[in-house]
Amino acid sequence: LSALLAGVPDVRTDAALAGTDPGEGWFAVTDPATGAVLAHVAEHDVTDARVAAAAAATAGRDWARRPNRERSAILHRAHALMMDDHERLATLITAENGKTLADARAEVAYAAEFFRWFAEEAVRPHGSYDPAPAGGVRHLVHRKPIGVAALVTPWNFPAAMATRKIAPALAAGCTVVLKPAEETPLTALAVGAILVEAGVPADAVRIVTTTDAPAVVEALLADEHVRKVSFTGSTQVGRILLHQAADRVLESSMELGGNAPFVVCDDADLDAAVAGALTAKLRGGGQVCVAANRFYVHTDVADAFVQRFGEAIAALNVGHGADDGTDAGPVITPVAAERIEKLVADAVAGGARVAYQAQAPSGAGNWVAPRLLVDVPGDAAIAHEEIFGPVATVRTWSDDDEVVAMANDTEFGLASYVYSRDLQRAIRLGEAFESGMVGVNRGLVSDPAAPFGGVKQSGLGREGATLGIDAFTEVQHLAVAWP
Ligand code: ADP
Repeated sequence: LSALLAGVPDVRTDAALAGTDPGEGWFAVTDPATGAVLAHVAEHDVTDARVAAAAAATAGRDWARRPNRERSAILHRAHALMMDDHERLATLITAENGKTLADARAEVAYAAEFFRWFAEEAVRPHGSYDPAPAGGVRHLVHRKPIGVAALVTPWNFPAAMATRKIAPALAAGCTVVLKPAEETPLTALAVGAILVEAGVPADAVRIVTTTDAPAVVEALLADEHVRKVSFTGSTQVGRILLHQAADRVLESSMELGGNAPFVVCDDADLDAAVAGALTAKLRGGGQVCVAANRFYVHTDVADAFVQRFGEAIAALNVGHGADDGTDAGPVITPVAAERIEKLVADAVAGGARVAYQAQAPSGAGNWVAPRLLVDVPGDAAIAHEEIFGPVATVRTWSDDDEVVAMANDTEFGLASYVYSRDLQRAIRLGEAFESGMVGVNRGLVSDPAAPFGGVKQSGLGREGATLGIDAFTEVQHLAVAWP
């Protein structure tokens, strides 16, 4: 790993490899598949966070004034450098997050694409110039960079959650302070180094690594230089940050938890539905905010779907993400594994049945065996909470209105999925779902060119698409006297 991290600031691999404690000021990053220490990363505190915000503000004065074409060219370079470095970054993601190399490679391409997409958006500002209806005034409306943005990201997509925020911010002319998840700071630091290589001034993207997220993030949101917070993580933490943002009336973007229904109609193409279900459930080991959390299958096809999906789950090869042939890696932490096991145990105690199960390795590592549960009682916690792991639950339905009510019976509204050969029926169901995104005959919704975000308690605002860059700008109106 030391070769993969050569030249990346704030990381020490020497002490980690020697198995010694590097002392004060560093924290360990571990491999979730083995528990082994991979590296040590600098422990930053509240003062460091304030220094970073001030430095980002200073850097922002020059960055915002650069011609859009220049910022765009730098972002294009970042995309190219990330793609050139594809394998190194994928290896880092797998090492600290545990996902399979195939998933990690897909994440690198997805993450890099945000730089290309927003490089293209950077040169397409949209303003307006209009005569006032009453005459005597010309209205000029344009967008300005909002200023320094505090970015807080989770561990499930160590590269993509960072680039989905950094790319539009830089494209808009903002500078940022990024606080990556303590479980996966290595990839974020590697992406930061790539940005510097691409030509981004070092202070325009400051990365503050810490194990004390509550204090460091609170200090950032309270800092006078910070004008925006963009957060991806749990609804619980999102609420805390919204309260803090309220104190300074900070512009806020929140990508929070999900509880996605995956609806299979009686006229669905079952091969496609099973393939989509595997993607929607098992990408990243199910630790994805748009992961399918509740499978609702029409009674007429329930047996066939459960058998095919269940057999595919039981055949999954669970192991170290970097090993050839691995279909599912470990979950992120021992605490996460315990939480998932408790959800399953409670459901089984309430009458659910484990119909299919894959083998998981024993020994060190945060292993959770992929499973498919049937006969899940409607009031079981697993039917309402985000599972965030490789466990699928199936319930049946027989009427379209009934399944819409089941799908919407949650305070979350991030993603939904629907499978039907009748496209009008699928779209009608999709429109009825209270969610920000709907996969129609597709188990994957994310695309940098499309708006990503939730309704209800799944969040505020959208990332990606043109809306993604708007989120880092503010509108200014100039009323110009026109006698
Ligand atoms: P997850 O369940 O995916 O770990 P979290 O919401 O706990 O989601 O974490 C997402 C990000 O929020 C991480 O960077 C984490 O360090 C940070 N975080 C966690 N708790 C707080 C908090 N109280 N205040 C600010 N940031 C926090």
